[in-house]
Amino acid sequence: MESILVLTHADETGSALTKASLEAITAGQELSARLSAPLAIGILAADTTPLTKGLPSAGPRPLAVSGEAFAQPRYSTDAAALEALCRAAQPTIVLAPASSRFARVAAAVAHRLGGFIDTHIAALGGPESASPGTLEATRWFYRQRVEAVLTRETRPWFLLLDAGVAKPFAPDPSAVPPQIEQVPVQLPTLRTTVTGLRAPTQGAQTIRPDAKLLLVAGAGWTKKQPDGQAHVPEAASLILGFLSATGASLGSSKSLVDQGSEGNSVLPFLTHLNQVGQTGATPRHAKGLSTCCHGEEPHVVGWRFIASRRAISLDPNCGWTRGKADVVYIADAFQVIAKLNALLETAKP
Ligand SMILES: Cc1cc2nc3c(=O)[nH]c(=O)nc-3n(C[C@H](O)[C@H](O)[C@H](O)COP(=O)(O)OP(=O)(O)OC[C@H]3O[C@@H](n4cnc5c(N)ncnc54)[C@H](O)[C@@H]3O)c2cc1C
Repeated sequence: MESILVLTHADETGSALTKASLEAITAGQELSARLSAPLAIGILAADTTPLTKGLPSAGPRPLAVSGEAFAQPRYSTDAAALEALCRAAQPTIVLAPASSRFARVAAAVAHRLGGFIDTHIAALGGPESASPGTLEATRWFYRQRVEAVLTRETRPWFLLLDAGVAKPFAPDPSAVPPQIEQVPVQLPTLRTTVTGLRAPTQGAQTIRPDAKLLLVAGAGWTKKQPDGQAHVPEAASLILGFLSATGASLGSSKSLVDQGSEGNSVLPFLTHLNQVGQTGATPRHAKGLSTCCHGEEPHVVGWRFIASRRAISLDPNCGWTRGKADVVYIADAFQVIAKLNALLETAKP
């Protein structure tokens, strides 16, 4: 019979579980119900007290590794903590969010336990009729073009869950917090001291995975415009103005981000991390607005999970008009975004 352990960790504030951890809890609950398998939830945090509020008091077995050594992500302490949680729960299936913290150590923990790991899991399922239920894990290969359904005999089977696999578990503030079982950890020799975090300032951060809207900038922003001139500084100010007014995330076509390495004038806030497409990212936002981009297949394949798509292009024969967008505005994006920014400015509360 299967038994499930969901691994979770605190967010940067230390006072709540990460959203991805809450999604993993829901995935664990659903799987536990389907397989009739016992469920344990393992928490990794400096202090677990604020994290247990609202967690189910009956049902899952709550385990924790806590202490100052676990306040910051660090390979040696995180790997030791997850190993201890796994040895305490003795699961056959381990679900964990694919956060940078867990993605870094999960393969090592699976190895220490003699198990197997699969990453980038996009869905958990299995044949409804099978009894006892079996687990099938789905993931994409080749940039979301090939979908694979995996089963494995090896146990424990570790599965790193991509964001959005399940709805985040909603803690019930009125629930009695569960009695947490603290799992002791033999701390390894600490060679790494975490002295702090350095992150780009808020304004400089243009990739916002939680934003509802994705704005994509294409190479057209830096091309010669009808007046025979390129208007790169104006393009930069229009794009940044739109991002600041809407909180949208910024994506880019490959042609635009490549310009930096080719020595041409380029928008300074764009890097290859912004690139969307076959050789770039496949972001998940409810809406997408493409600007000055031709909508070629290697780019649009990265829009696979964008539900509602609009594009602004000067070219009535661009890829977007060929069924790749819901709405295409054949218009000058400089003018449209300038107008939009002005409307957003007046609509400010
Ligand atoms: C193996 C391989 C992998 C690739 N992977 C990727 C990938 O991951 N991501 C990716 O993006 N591409 C990828 N590409 C490249 C892709 O095929 C295209 O070359 C690229 O997406 C084109 O970028 P673009 O549309 O921004 O530029 P362009 O093709 O130059 O298009 C610019 C567009 O801007 C429009 N425009 C210009 N001025 C304005 C204006 N004022 N208002 C409105 N519209 C205007 C023009 O009409 C034109 O349609 C890949 C290619 C290959 C071969």
